[in-house]
Amino acid sequence: MPEKKRVLPKPGSPELSVLATESHRVLYKFLYERRNDPPTMREIRAHVADVLGEALSQTDRRVRDLRDHFEVLAVRSGAEHRYRLEGWSKVKKAGSRKALSRRVRAEVLSPKRCAQCGRTPLDHGVVLDVDHKVPREWGGNDELDNLQPLCVECNSGKKDFYATYDAYAAEIRAASAHVEPHGRIGELLKAFRGDWAPSSLIGVVASMQQYQEDWQRRLRELRLLGWKISSKKERDPITGRINTWYRAEAWTPWPSGTIRAEVDRLAPYTKRGRS
Ligand SMILES: [Zn+2]
Repeated sequence: MPEKKRVLPKPGSPELSVLATESHRVLYKFLYERRNDPPTMREIRAHVADVLGEALSQTDRRVRDLRDHFEVLAVRSGAEHRYRLEGWSKVKKAGSRKALSRRVRAEVLSPKRCAQCGRTPLDHGVVLDVDHKVPREWGGNDELDNLQPLCVECNSGKKDFYATYDAYAAEIRAASAHVEPHGRIGELLKAFRGDWAPSSLIGVVASMQQYQEDWQRRLRELRLLGWKISSKKERDPITGRINTWYRAEAWTPWPSGTIRAEVDRLAPYTKRGRS
């Protein structure tokens, strides 16, 4: 029996939230539309520059990024290569990442104090390690914003708590890849399927691609779109402090344009912070 092939998503499909940015989706759309007449890198660059006005040097890297999720074959054609979108990638990305550099580790551990319980190796004999706030398996990256020093005890407590959500890892990964903060927050709440999500986690996922100073406002704005979101105060197992938890009880499909534009349309007179 031949293996069943996963169909390539159409441009604009929600499955493409696995791609990190809008420019990746522009690239995907171009390759998708040119599947039967694969473009050269020159054509790809011209197209991307045309649509996004983006620096050419980044285009090669974006094509490589696409390969985290999709198979893109480089087929020789004369002196050039043509890039053909073949299907979903068969290679699992997780585990293939490089270890953190010594310099990054040293920088993260430099406070010499557990970011959660505050204990130190010197005063309390704890051992500190580098923790990914959003785990790698959930799409967390190796940027400093996503790293913190945790003592072994706090780290294992956090891992146990997160392990209870491992069944939703793919959805949480897709949530953190959403291009808009509203989308990252909303998709995370959806991934929790009516379970309570602690604000420590929502805040981190909201800031995945771009720091969100006021993600709580973005969360409230979802209500303008017809979402029903409830909250409660309870101890957060990640931070150990009393914190707000959120739960989505009902949601609406994302608008066809940007979420930001829709929120502005629904509340044109509300003073808002930038997202
Ligand atoms: Zn600790």
